[in-house]
Amino acid sequence: MKTIDLRSDTVTRPTPAMRRAMAKAEVGDDFYRDDPTVRALEERAAALLGKPAAMLVLSGTMGNLVSLLASTQKGDAILVAENSHIFVNEAGNLAAVGGLLPAIVSDPNGLSRPDQITAALRAKSVLYAPLSLACIENTHNAAGGRCLGPEETDAICATAHANGLRVHLDGARIFNAAVALGVPASRLAHEVDSVSFCLTKGLGCPVGAMVVGAQAFIDRARHWRQMVGGGMRQAGIFAAAGLIALDTMIERLAEDHANARRLAEILQECGFRLTFDAVATNMVFVEIPQRIIAPGALVQALKAEGVLVNAPRGRRLRFVTHVDVPAAVILEAGRRIARAVEAATPTIRQVG
Ligand SMILES: *Cc1c(COP(=O)(O)O)cnc(C)c1O
Repeated sequence: MKTIDLRSDTVTRPTPAMRRAMAKAEVGDDFYRDDPTVRALEERAAALLGKPAAMLVLSGTMGNLVSLLASTQKGDAILVAENSHIFVNEAGNLAAVGGLLPAIVSDPNGLSRPDQITAALRAKSVLYAPLSLACIENTHNAAGGRCLGPEETDAICATAHANGLRVHLDGARIFNAAVALGVPASRLAHEVDSVSFCLTKGLGCPVGAMVVGAQAFIDRARHWRQMVGGGMRQAGIFAAAGLIALDTMIERLAEDHANARRLAEILQECGFRLTFDAVATNMVFVEIPQRIIAPGALVQALKAEGVLVNAPRGRRLRFVTHVDVPAAVILEAGRRIARAVEAATPTIRQVG
């Protein structure tokens, strides 16, 4: 039985084209800026996001960290959503490494409206950590893979800039948003000051993320990347996969979104309730039906059927679609999920 891995789109493996490109990549020492493949990827990423410059980093987390460091001073406050990846899932690096105070926006949709910035502003005073940056996330993972549209993004940026704040976009899955909204990624990044995006999620690369912004910002970020140990040598080996990803793996994300909608229907037929109104991109969040008393038992039953999911949070379970789970496999996943639901549902025996 072949495993169907729906834990995350990070489980995607490099495609045959990527492996070929990696094998024959032209490389050099990137410390001397001698790696032509890294430079080509950086130029391509900058162009796609409509910004002057870009830099390859080792992960989305490193991309966000060096972006924060290059946009703030130690002791600043930064606006983050309480359910954002930067606040929750990056090991507290903003505080531990950046010396930054998180100013927290509490909203299930994350930082998605200008009034959330206005509400966080304070009069200038020696009492307060200066608020210098607002962080947005698109797509927003914990909000169900929700997209932030171009007008919403522009409005947030306008309010931030009018009040002296920069805006960083955690665009780990920015191309999922662009494809779902039918706009170029550059449109979603138009007004933001910096963007980071992942090559290793739906785009399928083995390593890497990109940071994009103005040249002076990238110059500062390059210094911070070196400080946190992210300087690289012949990184063209994996940058070659990045170029293939940007050329061939973006438009196809639409398939992942269609598969997520299909999976959502199947899950509803199996008695799950969707957590969010809509399946916006490649994630399906569901509530485990009450008749399954132990959520852990369902995860075990799924595993026994060869379907992998992450541990639930409470009764909430996430399924993520990606290139290695094509439409036919989604249907097979549906059959296995139905069996797992039966296996995890306790039967009540009549006594007497
Ligand atoms: C995955 C992810 C990151 C971090 O990327 P890594 O490459 O795993 O470090 C940042 N932000 C969001 C929204 C993510 O989903």
